[in-house]
Amino acid sequence: MEADVIIIGAGSMGMAAGYYLARANRKVVLIDSNDPPHTEGSHHGKTRLIRHAYGEGEQYVPMALRAQELWLELERDSGRKVFHQTGVLNIGTPESDFLKNVFRSAETYSLPTEKLSSKEVNDRWSGFRLPDGLVACFEKNSGVLMSEEAIRAYRELAEQQDAALLMNTRVQKLQTDGDCISVTAGGTLITGKKLIITAGKGTNSVLQLLGRQLPLQPMRTHVSWFEADTELYRPDIFPAWAYDDGDSGFYGFPDIEGAGLKIGNHQAGSPVLPEEKLKPFGAVPGDGKDVSDFLSLHMGVDPILRTAQVCTYTDSPDGDFIIDQLPGYGNVIVACGFSGHGFKFASVVGEILMELTICGRTSLDITGFAACRFD
Ligand SMILES: Cc1cc2nc3c(=O)[nH]c(=O)nc-3n(C[C@H](O)[C@H](O)[C@H](O)COP(=O)(O)OP(=O)(O)OC[C@H]3O[C@@H](n4cnc5c(N)ncnc54)[C@H](O)[C@@H]3O)c2cc1C
Repeated sequence: MEADVIIIGAGSMGMAAGYYLARANRKVVLIDSNDPPHTEGSHHGKTRLIRHAYGEGEQYVPMALRAQELWLELERDSGRKVFHQTGVLNIGTPESDFLKNVFRSAETYSLPTEKLSSKEVNDRWSGFRLPDGLVACFEKNSGVLMSEEAIRAYRELAEQQDAALLMNTRVQKLQTDGDCISVTAGGTLITGKKLIITAGKGTNSVLQLLGRQLPLQPMRTHVSWFEADTELYRPDIFPAWAYDDGDSGFYGFPDIEGAGLKIGNHQAGSPVLPEEKLKPFGAVPGDGKDVSDFLSLHMGVDPILRTAQVCTYTDSPDGDFIIDQLPGYGNVIVACGFSGHGFKFASVVGEILMELTICGRTSLDITGFAACRFD
């Protein structure tokens, strides 16, 4: 089998890259050890926040804005519901770096936002009971992405553009020889000119076949859905939100498609091995207590758990992404280490990977994502 570009890992980032490359008339083969979307990686649980005023640093804002354009384009091109414009309320203590970055991002990029006190938040959305002393920044143009549906949309469009998908297929051998990449997967030999590795938590298992490793740490985390008063938490009246007080970080969603009130703790992860089967929700002492407590204290909700899921973050040492040529390999590009905040960028990362593969550069600034920063 021959390809211009071979992609190993066809989840959030890989499937988007596969589509943009196929649309640019490149012959693409996507290989995945599962069958995306699925529950063994980092993209399940149906929904993800997209924030524009960015708490992790204003350098992400141009990417977030381009990602938003591409999500809307994906929605139009696929006919699938990918985005709900619920707005996002960023909440925190005035001293939190997250909130400072949110306000700085909003100012630098003139994002349409409103600054609110705890009381103003509680008066406007009866579903919050914030204690005094917090501040919030509401951005109305952002909201919620349907993560599994978005991957389905990219997959469908990529296949329409003749991308080849080898799903439920493990990579056995990987060789680079000058300009040629050879991948043996599921007993099939695939040769190509370029290789993209977007294998999420499995990235180091793939890199091991080249004798390389990156500083990535997979983390087990979980999200929970609680019974919701639909009059308070409907997505047309209640926003998605992110909370950071410097010590703890939570995030949540309105009651989208009747799923209940979804909430997670951004800092609740515990380290796991790349190939480790995650312990189910409830098997680790304390699973879910943090989010129940948050709901009672900050939203006045009597927390009745409907369901919960475990999922994996793949953390880089500094929480920023790695999007770069694999050091020492001119024809291999890696995108990984999305550290629990990558999904919103999957569309733009797909476009960036397409540009890097075809012309070796991208118009967006990705210098902060260089692999060599950990040397
Ligand atoms: C609970 C939770 C909540 C989150 N909330 C948000 C949020 O609100 N907003 C946000 O922006 N981000 C959020 N994220 C983060 C975001 O979902 C991830 O950063 C993103 O999905 C990572 O994409 P990926 O392509 O690296 O991984 P994945 O989507 O997991 O894709 C990797 C693919 O590689 C495949 N693979 C693995 N190993 C191999 C192998 N050896 N060979 C072949 N294929 C392989 C996997 O099967 C998988 O399909 C959240 C993550 C979690 C877990």
